[in-house]
Amino acid sequence: MTTTTGERLVDFDDLLTRYEPVIGLETHVELGTASKMFCGCSTTFGAEPNTQTCPVCLGLPGALPVANAAAIEATIRIGLALGCRIATWCRFARKNYFYPDIPKGFQTSQYDEPLCTAGHLDVEVDGETYRVEIERVHLEEDTGKNLHVGGATGRIHGADHSLIDYNRAGIPLVEIVTRPIPGTGAKAPEVARAYVTELREILLALGVSEVRMEQGNLRSDVNTSLAPIGSLEWGTRTETKNVNSLRSVERAVRFEMRRQAAVLDADGRVLQETRHFHEDTGTTSPGRSKEEATDYRYFPEPDLVPIAPDPEWVEKLTAELPELPAARRVRLQEEWGLSATEMAWIANAGAVQLVAGTVAAGASPADARKWWLGELARRANDAGVELAELPITPEQVAELAGLVSAGTINDQLARQALDGVLAGEGGPAAVVEARGLAVLGESDELVAAVEAAIAGAPDVVEKVRGGKVQALGALVGQVMKATKGKADAPTVKRMLEERLLG
Ligand SMILES: [Zn+2]
Repeated sequence: MTTTTGERLVDFDDLLTRYEPVIGLETHVELGTASKMFCGCSTTFGAEPNTQTCPVCLGLPGALPVANAAAIEATIRIGLALGCRIATWCRFARKNYFYPDIPKGFQTSQYDEPLCTAGHLDVEVDGETYRVEIERVHLEEDTGKNLHVGGATGRIHGADHSLIDYNRAGIPLVEIVTRPIPGTGAKAPEVARAYVTELREILLALGVSEVRMEQGNLRSDVNTSLAPIGSLEWGTRTETKNVNSLRSVERAVRFEMRRQAAVLDADGRVLQETRHFHEDTGTTSPGRSKEEATDYRYFPEPDLVPIAPDPEWVEKLTAELPELPAARRVRLQEEWGLSATEMAWIANAGAVQLVAGTVAAGASPADARKWWLGELARRANDAGVELAELPITPEQVAELAGLVSAGTINDQLARQALDGVLAGEGGPAAVVEARGLAVLGESDELVAAVEAAIAGAPDVVEKVRGGKVQALGALVGQVMKATKGKADAPTVKRMLEERLLG
């Protein structure tokens, strides 16, 4: 198989018979602090370009940075939630490189002295737990945003000029780096997704970021390599940059595995490079080559004092951590009466919060789970969006489930009601009313439909009366069709029995 750009791909199951993947993730999270990392500029998203800047974040000569205490605290809390060791003393470093979106000519980051090290995060996929080792959590600043104008793709190639918005430059950015994750085999794409999902849940629980992936609050660089099964050395990895949805993380790993397998099958060499992920096609394409290591000439930032968190303060932050998602799931699983596997499905679908919200709004746990993991998951998948991005709230799902259990609508009508809610026609009750979706009671309309079905199929009626009761199904189907699914099937069946067998 080949992609539209002519790259050969190996079938996923086929490659697993010969190769083993190793994955790794570097995740950038924009913190939700009110001001930037080293100045007092606002961080509000969506402001007019270049209105949230000052001499510090524009890198003007003589401007001096001051570190944002709230950002340091948030980073330590993230480290603690991931079981990291917190440094007692560390420094910022200058990472020197020239790119227009870095106005200072260097990014203030951390290098050999990260704030948090040696943590871990356990993720579950299909009932199995994978431990992801966290190498480091460090603090840095975001870059400005380039806008390439005049080209077809929005990338620099083919553009006739570029614009830069420095509003984002200097927003505190936490980078969370895993160690390489071996031993995931066929589950590598799902482990990658489960890791980012779990990390996102933790960040939400900590309240340190809005983690809106579509706004770029959280973006992952996904490293993937393949080696022949049994090989003692890992293969050369590629780094797919800035993947910004959970679904794309999974797709990026899967695609890179299939592409690299084709390269290796042909005795080729996988190039160490960064790659771009394309949401529309689910493919990656080459970016910058990393065959020659960039020399960033790191050195300790002389304009900032070292960070030396007081151990007592760190202890206090530890004691004040909120209930973390893993513990919360254990508690909810018990409250909802689910098996561990059922709970894992909810977690992996990124639906814990949605189901919890639906239960809180009055639905039964079984109903909440059924709608989010069934019909709504299918629709999210068809639309290529995350569950949480569907334009429906947990309260509306609870309302829908309530209409079904009250007998106002059946499951089939509820799916039609969902169409309306997702199309923005209003809440479930309003859509049921506006679209006339309520189940028909034993009304004149239903009696007429039942009698028409009997009159229209004398042969079936004869069979039923002759003892072939299962033939009744055809008549029920006829009535359901005539009423456009608005009849209640058990009621129809009873009405037919009364007339033919009574
Ligand atoms: Zn500023």
